[in-house]
Amino acid sequence: MMTNLIKNTFLILLSLILFISCNEKKKEETVKIINDKAIADENQTSDWLAYGRTHNERRFSPLEDVSVSNVANLKVDWFIDLPNDVGLVSTPLVVNGVLYFTGTMNVIRAVDATSGKLIWTFDPKVREAIKGKRQVGWAHSRGISFYEGKIFTATWDGRLIGIDAKTGKEIWTAVTFDPNRSLNITGAPKAFKGKVLIGNGGSENGPARGVVTCYDAETGKELWKFFVVPGNPVDGFENEAMEMAAKTWNGEWWKNGGGGNAWHGFTYDADLDVLYFGTGNGGPWNPRIRSPKVDDNLFLCSIVAVKPDTGEYLWHYQTTPGEAWDYNSTMDIVLADLKIKGEDVKAILHAPKNGFFYVINRETGKLISAEPFTEVTWASHIDLKTGRPVLVDGARYDKGPIDIAPDSWGGHSWHAMAYSPQSGLVYIPTLHKADKYSDEGVVYEGWESKEFSGGIGVGLSPADKQLSDHPSSLEAIDPITQEHVWSIPQDDFWNAGILTTGGNLVLQGRSDGKLLAYNAKTGKIVWTFDTGLGISAPPITYKVNGRQYISLLVGFGGGYARGGLDAYNLGWSYRTHTRRLITFSLEGTVDLPALPPRHFPKPIVDTNFKIDKDKATKGMNEYWKCFICHGDNMFSGGMAPDLRASPIALNKEALIAVVRNGAKNTMGMPSFPDMTDEQLENLMHFIRKRAKETLPDYEESIKNNAVKKQN
Ligand code: CA
Repeated sequence: MMTNLIKNTFLILLSLILFISCNEKKKEETVKIINDKAIADENQTSDWLAYGRTHNERRFSPLEDVSVSNVANLKVDWFIDLPNDVGLVSTPLVVNGVLYFTGTMNVIRAVDATSGKLIWTFDPKVREAIKGKRQVGWAHSRGISFYEGKIFTATWDGRLIGIDAKTGKEIWTAVTFDPNRSLNITGAPKAFKGKVLIGNGGSENGPARGVVTCYDAETGKELWKFFVVPGNPVDGFENEAMEMAAKTWNGEWWKNGGGGNAWHGFTYDADLDVLYFGTGNGGPWNPRIRSPKVDDNLFLCSIVAVKPDTGEYLWHYQTTPGEAWDYNSTMDIVLADLKIKGEDVKAILHAPKNGFFYVINRETGKLISAEPFTEVTWASHIDLKTGRPVLVDGARYDKGPIDIAPDSWGGHSWHAMAYSPQSGLVYIPTLHKADKYSDEGVVYEGWESKEFSGGIGVGLSPADKQLSDHPSSLEAIDPITQEHVWSIPQDDFWNAGILTTGGNLVLQGRSDGKLLAYNAKTGKIVWTFDTGLGISAPPITYKVNGRQYISLLVGFGGGYARGGLDAYNLGWSYRTHTRRLITFSLEGTVDLPALPPRHFPKPIVDTNFKIDKDKATKGMNEYWKCFICHGDNMFSGGMAPDLRASPIALNKEALIAVVRNGAKNTMGMPSFPDMTDEQLENLMHFIRKRAKETLPDYEESIKNNAVKKQN
């Protein structure tokens, strides 16, 4: 009897323990573990787990609640103002109902994905880190990554940081390059297999040697490195791949770095367990300075495939051998499974700057097809047998100045392209510009690339004739046939990246501030929304509590936003328009408060200031330190104040305080402690000269804007 009682009690207790532990397990299962299996899952629709949504980087979501038939009813569901941000180009992530995004200067915020309510902010204090040192560039980041409870961000000054996704607290920091080097990071780190990969940019700013480095996601410990170009053979090669690459170089290439910087385009193939990365242009651009007897210069402008665990070389495909035009192949590497001529092909889809759209077999690295997706004049075609471009005579400006398309912005830059397995089409934000390349006046003898002053070794000027009557377009291409199924010409340059969905939609924001939805199959515009500010970031979509959301960051930015008359003419002047994160749904009811109209800073013409021509000419040379933020030809694109309209530039004491003594360091303005009184005075004269001579441009801008409004 007694024994039975004990036995029964024991059994009851045992089942109780089993019941509790079972329930614990269930609870655990409801909180998803974000590992490779989760990130590779194309069918999962609640989250947006990686830069291109999944490991395949397609930016296709099967969500179909919002579709061509009801997208006209899309409204703002929630939004948040981001008054301290400037250029916003990044892709947010959504994990378990939380939306994470990186803003200007790598500030990361976690917000409730259904309301925008702030959960935490992480500020890596980039402004402080760059103080006085990094006199180049702008503070953009294209994204963050998520893996097993951690967020990874790479800062402009070269730190890779692992953050606890729950608390927003830093777990580890790895310094990915010497902060005294003129390198920078704008790319999203790639998280996969318990690792994080990052490269860097900066081949125009100094003697850069491209490299990608892989870190342990748990600890931040460096696991492996893969250099893009070989170093000095005397120092020995890091691996066989570098030894092979060195055979395609000559002269003393290592003295100027060689370039090849991998600043974007990192893709992990969970299917084949291979890592691909795209590589950048040569350093300098002029191939005869880089390596006098022009050769392929591996692995510039290539896709390189490596083993993800060790970084061991597998294969490469070079899109632009002996590159001479800044034709990065760092653009998106999208994975698609295609049926070509009856055969299943595991393909890479790639549209680099050089203007050809490539379909590559990713099991072998062999080219399947390559056709121009924009105007291309540097090569007649890609020879499918050899996989190599056939260059036109004199394309490398070796027989005098030559007009070349695409120009150095490329036929496609980092603005995300997308692939829909539903429509079978790839969508490319396409650019159409030509430029004149010339090495006239370039001194080859003793040419030297120095930290923070770099140089490209080639002169650029406007082409005699543009080959397209529109500067950009949205192209929908069938990757099997290379046919352009539809094409939408666009009036402004530098439109943003693409989202495509199971609702037969393609969504794209434009630099004129409009977000558009197209029928993915036909290109018919089915919805337009004016955000009131230029868009440079791609939209994402996700579903929480049964509601599909479409979300995007709004804030004109990126390299083109550094200025020039066309960028100035968009009217997104510095700190005039509040940056925003805007989220839409069919159930949304919010009316977005209007932003100020386009604003064109008016050049100040100071009649009391006597412009000295010689001083102004000398000041033009000083302006090379300023143009990358304050704008080409002193037309600001909104990333920094327009100096022609700046009261600070009218007063020498104020100019000294800001430029030499760093009074606006915390705003992102670096200090230039070595600048002499004379140099600053010369700069002042140049600013006044530009203000005076560009007043008619300003008046023209105002007139054109009035006409635009009437239409
Ligand atoms: Ca470049």
